[in-house]
Amino acid sequence: MAHLLIVEDDELLRDALGSLLGQAGHQVSMAPDGESALAELADGRFEGVVLDLGLPRIDGLTVLQRLRVQLPTLPVLILTARDGVEDRVAGLNAGADDYLTKPFNGDELKARLQSMLRRSKLPAFGQADTSVGKDRQPLLRVDTDVPRAWLQDDMVELTQREWELLALLFRRQGQVVSREDVFAAWQSGAGEAGAMASNALEVYVHRLRRKLAHPALHIRNIRGLGYMMELGAR
Ligand code: CA
Repeated sequence: MAHLLIVEDDELLRDALGSLLGQAGHQVSMAPDGESALAELADGRFEGVVLDLGLPRIDGLTVLQRLRVQLPTLPVLILTARDGVEDRVAGLNAGADDYLTKPFNGDELKARLQSMLRRSKLPAFGQADTSVGKDRQPLLRVDTDVPRAWLQDDMVELTQREWELLALLFRRQGQVVSREDVFAAWQSGAGEAGAMASNALEVYVHRLRRKLAHPALHIRNIRGLGYMMELGAR
């Protein structure tokens, strides 16, 4: 599945995490402190990291900040103590993708990790506007299996038709997608049944614009031709 690095100083927990994630099909490497974690991460062979924040030698937050310089998109899930709300906020600000509070449920860890790894592999559309301070995240990612997308870190639920329309615009970003192309995609997809009103496309475009509202993301109406998705300043 994925090659993961588990960074945890508590030996019992580290071994438990190792066997849990190994049984889930992942290839697992382990590091007991921040210094060895950074040494392991230096060759960039990992696809994901489970990172405890309270670590000897170099603390988890510093590990995260340093690894972000070299590996800005490597998915990282942090583990924090129950009362570590401030740690959690600092971790997310330092670029963690998700977090779990100890003690945690093994199934939940596996599920969160799976969703994080999956998200990191989706095709990305553009880079985020740096003014929002999340410049390592792509602006938009569209799920290829399930009707949903991510606008930076926020998951956006879509209807089947919204998703099919978005996928089409996304795949052909910077090019005009004609109304006929959209209707053809809707008919071949598993879209909700029912007659399509002549203004249906406008309604769906309007909904997508509302759900994916961001100053750098545009779905333009190209008069007489169709629609085009673009990135750029307002
Ligand atoms: Ca610890």
